[in-house]
Amino acid sequence: MNEIIDYFSTIPSAHRAMILAGGIALFWLIESALPFVKFSYNKWQHAGINIFFTLTTIVVNFCLAFILIRTAQWTVDHNFGLLNWLPEMNPWLYAITGLLLLDLIGAYLAHLVEHKVKFLWRFHLIHHTDTWIDTTTGNRHHPGESVIRFVFTTLGVLLVGSPMWMVFLYQTLSVVATQFTHANIALPKRIDKIMSFVLVSPDMHKVHHHYKLPYTDSNYGNIFSVWDRLFGTFSYLEREQLVYGVDTHMQPKEHNDLKNLLAIPFQKYRSPEDNA
Ligand SMILES: [Zn+2]
Ligand SMILES: [Zn+2]
Repeated sequence: MNEIIDYFSTIPSAHRAMILAGGIALFWLIESALPFVKFSYNKWQHAGINIFFTLTTIVVNFCLAFILIRTAQWTVDHNFGLLNWLPEMNPWLYAITGLLLLDLIGAYLAHLVEHKVKFLWRFHLIHHTDTWIDTTTGNRHHPGESVIRFVFTTLGVLLVGSPMWMVFLYQTLSVVATQFTHANIALPKRIDKIMSFVLVSPDMHKVHHHYKLPYTDSNYGNIFSVWDRLFGTFSYLEREQLVYGVDTHMQPKEHNDLKNLLAIPFQKYRSPEDNA
């Protein structure tokens, strides 16, 4: 555990970039060899859009990182946050508890609120407009959403009282988990199902990308599936029945055009019922 703490305390930005790029490359190869859905799309053009949004997410997080670092340091200095108020525990249990709580506040809660608050949905919608879900979709987030998520991450760090190594560990696991759950692959159904009792599995997250409610408003989990199961937001749909996208924006000229995707949050709001 000490080695893990040491490594993530000072993880170089270059290593983080390599993990991100390496993950995309790995899942790209697997999904090209064994695709779950045979999309008729231009994989490179589609990836271009999603990688643009990945880069804007990196820029937003990089520019704001000092806030996160100061917040984490403040919680350590002032003994603030849930982890600091719990009794002393085994380092592994401490790390898993911290990761679970960061996942709850910084990811699950953030995601749920993005679906429930119209103003935030306008930004998160860009992630959902993708009708060709593959590993590059994982980090397709409008820059506005990246800021929203950053605020929740900071809130999570504050309430959990997590040291910075834990935040970096969480973010690294999250990047790879996201690339995995969006990859256009299909695990054997039994394996996927067993996995979904602990972690968000590819099938579980893809239900969240089904184009119609109520499925879009379920399975908000990021790394751990426990929060959806605990709070009753878990749902299941057979993978053969999935249709990706969001019913309000199914036209490629809208969801496959960078300029339009950037503009969507500022366009007239469309309620899903209009298209029912
Ligand atoms: Zn969502
Ligand atoms: Zn997604």
